Parts: sequence; C-alpha cells; structure tokens
Amino acid sequence: MRVVVSGGCGFLGSHLCEALLRRGDQVCCLDNFSSGRASNVAHLLSEPGFVCTPSDVTQQLRVNVDVDAVVHLASPASPLDYARHPLETLAVGSRGTENLLRLAVRHQARFVLASTSEVYGDPAVHPQDEDYWGHVNPVGPRSVYDEAKRFAEALTMAYRRSQGADTGIVRIFNTYGPRMRADDGRVVSTFVSQALDGEALTVFGDGSQTRSLCYVDDLIRGLLAMVDTDLPGPFNLGNPSERTVRELAELVLRLTGSDGGLRFLPLPVDDPVRRRPVITRAREGLGWSPRVPVEAGLRRTVAWFAAQSDTSVRPPAHSPVGRSS
Ligand code: UDP
Repeated sequence: MRVVVSGGCGFLGSHLCEALLRRGDQVCCLDNFSSGRASNVAHLLSEPGFVCTPSDVTQQLRVNVDVDAVVHLASPASPLDYARHPLETLAVGSRGTENLLRLAVRHQARFVLASTSEVYGDPAVHPQDEDYWGHVNPVGPRSVYDEAKRFAEALTMAYRRSQGADTGIVRIFNTYGPRMRADDGRVVSTFVSQALDGEALTVFGDGSQTRSLCYVDDLIRGLLAMVDTDLPGPFNLGNPSERTVRELAELVLRLTGSDGGLRFLPLPVDDPVRRRPVITRAREGLGWSPRVPVEAGLRRTVAWFAAQSDTSVRPPAHSPVGRSS
C-alpha cells in the first residue's frame, strides 16, 4: 500500500511509518515539525519506500503520488503542547482533517482519523466505551484539543455519509514509549526524565487521578488493523490497566532506582479525574488487544530515555494549562 501519514515525525507517527515500511508498504510522511522531530525518522530516510515532505496540512496539500490510505495523526497532543499552540491545534483538527479527507476521497483511499480519549473530557461515566458521548468543557483550556478532535470525528462521519468516503476513527488513550519528548509535559516522559536526573517527580494534585497507559508498540498494531479494515469505528485503543498518577510515580521511582521522591504541585484546570478504556469493540472488530504489561513497557521506556542525551531538556515546573487550586 501507499500510505500518507500526517504527523509522521511525531511520537506515534514515526513508529507507524516504521511499522508500515517493515511490512512492505510505501510511506509518504508529512510534518510541519511543530511537535514532531526530523530525528524521529532519520533512520528511515535511506529506505526506498520512504519519503518525508515538510508540510502544513492546514494549507493546500501537494501529494503527487497514488494513495491507498491516509492516516491523520498530525496535531499537538500533549496538554502542554496544545496549550502552547491553541489556534494551530484547532486548525489542524478542522482544516487539516478536511484537507486529508479530500485527499483520501480523491484517491478513493482509506482514511483513518487519530482521535482521542479527550473526546470523553472529564468523564462522568467510568470506564469509557464508545457509546459514551463525553463531558467536555467547551470553553476550558483543554477545549482546543478536545473540540478539535470532536469536530474532526464529525467531519469524518460527514464525509463517510455524504461522500461515500472509506473512513475509520480510533480514539487513542494515553500512550507512552521511546521517542516521547522529554519536554512534552506528559506524565510518563516527565516522570522518567525527572527520575533519571535524580529530581523529585512532579505529581499534580494529590496524585489520586487515574490514567490507563498503553505501550506504543501495542497502539501501532491497533492503528495498522484500522488501516487494513473498512470498519468505521470509533474504536477505543488503549490499555485498560488503570492506576493512579501517584502509583505511577512510585513505580517509576522503583524502576529507575531514583531516591528523588515526589513533589506535589496544584492540579491543572479540568484535569480528568479518571480514565480507562473499554476495548471490547476493538477486540471484537479488529482482533486487537494490548500485550505489553505496564511495568515491561516502562522498563523499555526508561532504557530509551537513559540512552538519550536530551533528558537534560527539563519539563517546565509549572503547567501553562492553569491551576485549579
Ligand atoms: N501529571 C502529573 N505530573 C506531571 C505531568 C502530568 O501529575 O508532571 C498528571 C496530570 O495532571 C494528569 C496525568 O498526569 O492527571 C496525565 O497527564 P498527561 O499530561 O500525560 O496527559 P492527559 O491524560 O492529562 O492528557
């Protein structure tokens, strides 16, 4: 297949490009390097099936090859990044999604939208299955991402219904692994880089909020399955293994052997209290479920961060998303 991957130089995008090439597909990677890094795909540049084109998908797209599938991953995706780039986040979720949908329709290609667990907001229902419509604050600091992705889902379904587009939506829950940026502000990258530097881990609030963490290799298998099917979804992709942020911090301290301890900071505004995917639909529809236990995935992630020189890029001490207390 010839697959266009928007956001192909990002954390998930680069792993997807690699997995597609490994199975013999050709990849056209698009990125504007706002949160993606060229270094993430440097090792792929010599592969004959790989092309990387600097592009802003909110502008007119120039893809001059035949296309069998389009996977739209481009977006700032960490709370820190989308707070820094609110207008760009809304633009890539709206105009960017429409440009890529048009591209897919023009080529009669499969279109896969990377949506997010953030469409559920701070969920009033737990755990979250795909029939839950969510609980999003439309004017809060996270809304630029949440509403952009909700709009992207609506647009995707409108193209499916009105244009006969072959579309699929996946809702990606917290994912971690090699190639996360040490300064992306996310919990795993922040905790691991702090622990490796012997610093205290910055736990927001009292750390009782929960997340369910999926290792990147598992997530990529789910994305590939979504490329290969013609099912519309939405499908939750995530690991239902749920733990509190404090438990996660203690696990990272143990795995790194750090004695840096914990430092409690105020909770960001609208930080979801609980999050866990129901993945029955993905199990049945895609034959997909995660395989990598959190401790094993974290060990691999710690090893990768330890091997990087950029762990000295410190995450900020204060989230720009704002504080509720
Ligand atoms: N978090 C934390 N310390 C940090 C970064 C994040 O306690 O240094 C918490 C954050 O408040 C949230 C959870 O970890 O409850 C996950 O945050 P992340 O930014 O990774 O993603 P989110 O799931 O909120 O989009």
